[in-house]
Amino acid sequence: MLVDAKMIAVVTGIPGTGKTTVANKAMDLLRKEGIDYEMVTYGTVMIEIAKSKGIVGNRDDMRKLDSETQRMIQELAAENIAGMEGNILVDTHCTIKTPRGYLPGLPEWVLRKLKPDAVILIEATPKEISTRRGCDKSRSRDDESVEWIALHQEMNRNISAAYSVFTGATVKVIQNPQGKIEEAAEAMAEVLR
Ligand code: ATP
Ligand code: MG
Repeated sequence: MLVDAKMIAVVTGIPGTGKTTVANKAMDLLRKEGIDYEMVTYGTVMIEIAKSKGIVGNRDDMRKLDSETQRMIQELAAENIAGMEGNILVDTHCTIKTPRGYLPGLPEWVLRKLKPDAVILIEATPKEISTRRGCDKSRSRDDESVEWIALHQEMNRNISAAYSVFTGATVKVIQNPQGKIEEAAEAMAEVLR
């Protein structure tokens, strides 16, 4: 079945779970069937907006912004993505671990603008995630214990459910076990078709 209307899907999961890898593979599979998606990274859109407004000079300045400015940029990013042509796959974090607790990546004011049709949560076992973070030298991710990784994944399931209730988006949890990227990508493509 071909997608007959524009889709906005969110792919999420904790750092190192494999969302970018699985999403790229799923998009390759769909492209062969004539279904195109553009992948946008929420954080990158935010940085581009902040730079274009002269608010920040580089990526690292983003963290130093006051919460009101961050919120304004976050909302503008949602508007910007919602206005993009074609099918969009938004790569973002479901929750961000902060010293004050888990922060939703897609709070109410973002969901209202973004209006996603589907939320895809990529999961792996805490031990696999810990190993992947250790092996992937291209990135510097937090060093978390497997217990904290398990809790973070549990929080992401709960908060994804809230995203779904708020927007009507479907929620799909996809396991991405070690060496099974193809299977995870096929499960993701199934949601996006
Ligand atoms: P971030 O949120 O930090 O961007 P991510 O969820 O996008 O992380 P990826 O960058 O896609 O994670 O993957 C992290 C690492 O795990 C990469 O080195 C990737 O090649 C590897 N990886 C992903 N999925 C699998 C898998 N099923 N089996 C083995 N390695 C995997
Ligand atoms: Mg990624």
